[in-house]
Amino acid sequence: MLRSVKFSTILFALALIVIACDQDKTSSKQTAQTPLANNSTDEITPKLNFPPDTGPLPKFDGDRAMQYTKEIVAYGPRPLGSANHKKVEEYILAHLKSDDVENDVFTADTPDGKFPVHNIVDKFPGTKEGIIVVASHYDTNYPLRNTSYVGANDGASTSALLLEMANQLRGKPNDGYSVWLVWDDAEESIRPDTEIPFEQDALYGIKHLAEKWESDGTLKKVKAFILADMIGDADLDIDRETNSTPWLEDVVYEAASRLGYQSHFFARRIEILDDHLPFLKRGVPSADLIDFSYGYNNVFWHTPQDTVDKLSAKSLEISGSTVLETIRILDKMEPLPPK
Ligand SMILES: [Zn+2]
Repeated sequence: MLRSVKFSTILFALALIVIACDQDKTSSKQTAQTPLANNSTDEITPKLNFPPDTGPLPKFDGDRAMQYTKEIVAYGPRPLGSANHKKVEEYILAHLKSDDVENDVFTADTPDGKFPVHNIVDKFPGTKEGIIVVASHYDTNYPLRNTSYVGANDGASTSALLLEMANQLRGKPNDGYSVWLVWDDAEESIRPDTEIPFEQDALYGIKHLAEKWESDGTLKKVKAFILADMIGDADLDIDRETNSTPWLEDVVYEAASRLGYQSHFFARRIEILDDHLPFLKRGVPSADLIDFSYGYNNVFWHTPQDTVDKLSAKSLEISGSTVLETIRILDKMEPLPPK
């Protein structure tokens, strides 16, 4: 994933969470903490008119998503430029053979040289004008490339989540928005954040895609950008990320509530720098779904302890179903709130 941040003040809950400035992996990272906030909001959000019950609940096979996670992890570390990275690209593409896939391939100029970058976009058409994008990165942290770090939660679980979403979307009529799944690349920073600020040395793939879609006119059609990051933790507590668009986060919470999963969402607010930033910057409503409490004090994040035994099929099912239900609610909300 991403990068942690600064300060997030929870005015109403009198809670203060301090995520210490960005450090990478082994350095101390985080202080915290507080009474947990509830879902009360301190942002001004438009009043949302949620549609009535949207019919049969979405299906998402958490066991199959877990199997995909294990298969991705089995390749070993997959940092940018590595043979394993290439294998995982091919693994993802092999699952999308019958789909309409856009390959966004380019060369990134990084502090450690030039690297091939490959964003994969899998497109499922709908009959409504507009696109909902669901994204996750698949590379592993580059500074940890010579360790056993495999990013089971950070990258593999969410790449697997998208593969299972594709299974659920494939071949079914869709009278809502088009859904585009994006496996973005080169998300992780090349140098530790203590050397170069995260925003300048990370998110290479998603920045490129946002720029490309801005210049070719695609971006105007994107109604929402939903990012999945580190959402396979067996102890699932998805944070309310404060850079995200408040009304879209509210839709996610509504979706989780309809599935009975709301207790896994938004007990805490934090600010995260992540793949949603290039879309947010361009005015696309965006939500970063991330559980940044991976082990006590987030100790498994960016360490070789980020392994599949910390994850659960149930958490993948909760996350995947909630994203699918979010899309179904968005399909029926007329009109969507202004950006
Ligand atoms: Zn990461």
